[in-house]
Amino acid sequence: MDKPKKEPIALRHRQDHKLCLNCGFPNRPSDTHCMFCHTSIVDDRGLLSWFRQAYYVLRWRWQLKQKREHLDHNRQKKFFRFFGYFLIGLMLTLAGGYFFYTSLTDHSFFNALIAVLLLLYGFVTFKSLFSSK
Ligand SMILES: [Zn+2]
Repeated sequence: MDKPKKEPIALRHRQDHKLCLNCGFPNRPSDTHCMFCHTSIVDDRGLLSWFRQAYYVLRWRWQLKQKREHLDHNRQKKFFRFFGYFLIGLMLTLAGGYFFYTSLTDHSFFNALIAVLLLLYGFVTFKSLFSSK
């Protein structure tokens, strides 16, 4: 009777990369020096080196996660700034439109002046918003 053998240490044997113990960069098994920081990768399989590898894997993953969160945070900040400027531009334009409308109904030159000014500010805000990309 042939049972399919389960190998509990398969992960360790079939590793297709060797982690650098200095920076945690995964290198090819044929490499003798880390491709990232150029320190020599000695393949000692002691308990201490296993713990060190585990530590570096965790640190590597943590750093990747931090980087991703940082990127997400930056994107969020950019979006909110864009949204804020968009709102200001929209309000200026709407206010300008309102003053322009009242200047037409009241025949007020002062209101028309404010309208032109507001529309100009709104236009500049929108322009700086879309040209900065
Ligand atoms: Zn390295």
